[in-house]
Amino acid sequence: MTMKTIGYAAASAEAPLAPFHFDRRDLRANDVAIDILYSGVCHSDLHSARNDWGWSSYPLVPGHEIIGVVSAVGADVTRFKKGDRVGVGCMVDSCQKCDQCAKGEEQLCREGNTGTYNGQDRITGEATAGGYSKAIVVRQEFVLSVPEALDMSRAAPLLCAGITTYSPLKTWGVGPGSRVGVIGLGGLGHMAVKLAVGLGAHVTVLSRSPDKAADAKALGAHALLISTDETAMKSAGSGFDLIIDTVPVKHDLNLYTPLLDVDGTLVIVGQIGPMDEMSTTPLLLGRRRIAGSPIGGIAETQEMLDFCASKSIHPECETIRMDQINDAFDRMEKSDVRYRFVIDMASLTAEAA
Ligand code: NAP
Ligand code: ZN
Ligand code: ZN
Repeated sequence: MTMKTIGYAAASAEAPLAPFHFDRRDLRANDVAIDILYSGVCHSDLHSARNDWGWSSYPLVPGHEIIGVVSAVGADVTRFKKGDRVGVGCMVDSCQKCDQCAKGEEQLCREGNTGTYNGQDRITGEATAGGYSKAIVVRQEFVLSVPEALDMSRAAPLLCAGITTYSPLKTWGVGPGSRVGVIGLGGLGHMAVKLAVGLGAHVTVLSRSPDKAADAKALGAHALLISTDETAMKSAGSGFDLIIDTVPVKHDLNLYTPLLDVDGTLVIVGQIGPMDEMSTTPLLLGRRRIAGSPIGGIAETQEMLDFCASKSIHPECETIRMDQINDAFDRMEKSDVRYRFVIDMASLTAEAA
């Protein structure tokens, strides 16, 4: 007997999200069934629902920042039991055999990881469906433990925005004394600030929005550079070791590469696709680098959750009802979110759907 559930899905790239009834698979021996309590709203959900990247399949149930409670476990599950506080992020499976999986970098699995939504189950080929729903079934290796010190209602954005910014901070060795820039103060950007500050770095926000100055400071940033202020950008010097670029649309990297110190790296975590034409001059002359980074592995995601618990780091959340999601997408597109929408899944009932 499959489990019937309800969620919100996009029926096509043009359609607004709407209530959707569907089945979750039967529990396999190493599966965990989760009652979803909260689901964060990532800009990737919006890109995917609207097919911005050209690889969406419909109906598409978005959501890869999932917080919930275990409702049942399969016969072989050893890591979780009914009632445990858990999270699920952007992937729900990988080959579990390749060198990347063996290293705990399942996001870089040689066979490709299985997305929490818009992916295909590795056994049946069925479409995966995400966290804008009441329940999900995930193999135990891809389920995270949510430490007691984290508030469940504010933890969901850690599962994507948190790990996507934590992973490059760790990859590029950020710690006390590191000089970090964060482009775009949105869902990912505000987590990059909190996490870099938590790791002891000196953090500068690079934003188009002067009205975010007070927020940047409150989030712990030490400085703010307004990217549209040419004079300020020109006089900013070349002092960054790492710049994390979270901008979700095509933009001009030439503004930012000269800000890197020798051997500094600009790591792109936003925008997937072609960028504006880029000059190689600052890269060559300053031995600077441009890199990309996708989410992070499961072990690193657990490390990030434990780090946030130990430092009392929580995302800034605006809780919404499920039926407010289309408005939330519109607001996110206008950068009118401070700084992450989180859907209270209790607002979605069978009657409401
Ligand atoms: P978001 O909350 O909408 O934040 C994006 C921020 O970028 C905005 O707050 C804004 O900050 C800035 N921005 C927006 N439009 C801009 C424009 N036209 N020009 C310059 N800056 C602009 O989005 P998010 O959820 O943080 O996601 C950011 C991107 O990361 C998306 O493309 C998403 O798909 C991607 N992503 C990647 C991964 C990964 O694994 N690498 C994981 C999750 C998300 P200011 O107002 O401060 O300028
Ligand atoms: Zn995401
Ligand atoms: Zn693999």
